[in-house]
Order: sequence, then structure tokens, then C-alpha cells
Amino acid sequence: MAGEPQADCLFCKIVEGKIPATVVRETETTIAFRDINPQAPTHVLVIPKVHYPDAASLAAAEPAVIADILREAGEIAAEEKIADHGYRVVFNTGAGAGQTVFHAHLHVLGGRGLQWPPG
Ligand code: 5GP
Repeated sequence: MAGEPQADCLFCKIVEGKIPATVVRETETTIAFRDINPQAPTHVLVIPKVHYPDAASLAAAEPAVIADILREAGEIAAEEKIADHGYRVVFNTGAGAGQTVFHAHLHVLGGRGLQWPPG
């Protein structure tokens, strides 16, 4: 059922503490941890504790949680001191856009110059 933990979902396992992660922030609805394969000096993933396969399905069902995720991104940018030089927030959505984990997650990237458009 949408929103329920999925047994085969990597990020549900991180939420449940079954797989370790370097957690930087946690709220009632979200958890933020460092990406295992960082693409920038700061590369944090902010995820909802509830399971939805992507940002759009999460936004449709629980829009307040998307707002929580974006607020957390701002807090992380401030804590990591990446806001002054600019940072990027990305929801890869669909395999064709590079999504590999089908539990909604926001990438927060910063600490180096970022090119536009992304590849
Ligand atoms: P996507 O490609 O779906 O947008 O992003 C998935 C991200 O999850 C990738 O950047 C990948 O490096 C990260 N990732 C995959 N497995 C793990 C893991 O076990 N732990 C952590 N911390 N990050 C992971």
C-alpha cells in the first residue's frame, strides 16, 4: 500500500535502521543522510519516512511532506555552509532521468561549482 514500508526498498531499510547511514538530520517525517557515492563535497539525500516511489507520487498523496523535505534542504545548506556559493536540489524522477532508488529522495548538492544544464 502506498506510504507503507516496502520490504525490498533500500531507503525503507535505512528509515527502519536495518541498513546504516550517516544521518545528518531527522524530523518526524523525514531523514537526511550522506550519499554513499558523493558527487560534490556536500551530497545529502533527504527522504520521507513514508514510502512513495518518486517525488510526484509523494506530492500528490502527502504534499506537506514535500514541504518538509524542502525545508530540511534549506537547513542542511545552512549547516553545511553551502548556501552562499549556491547549491542544487534535485529529484531524479524515472530511470531515464537517472533515478535508481524508487523511494522518493531529494539530492542536496553543493560545495563546488555546479554546471547548467546537468548531464
Ligand atoms: P538516484 O540515482 O535514485 O537519484 O539516487 C540514489 C542515490 O542513492 C545515489 O546517489 C546513490 O549513490 C545513493 N545510494 C545508493 N545506495 C545507497 C546506500 O546504501 N546508502 C547511501 N547513503 N546512499 C546510497
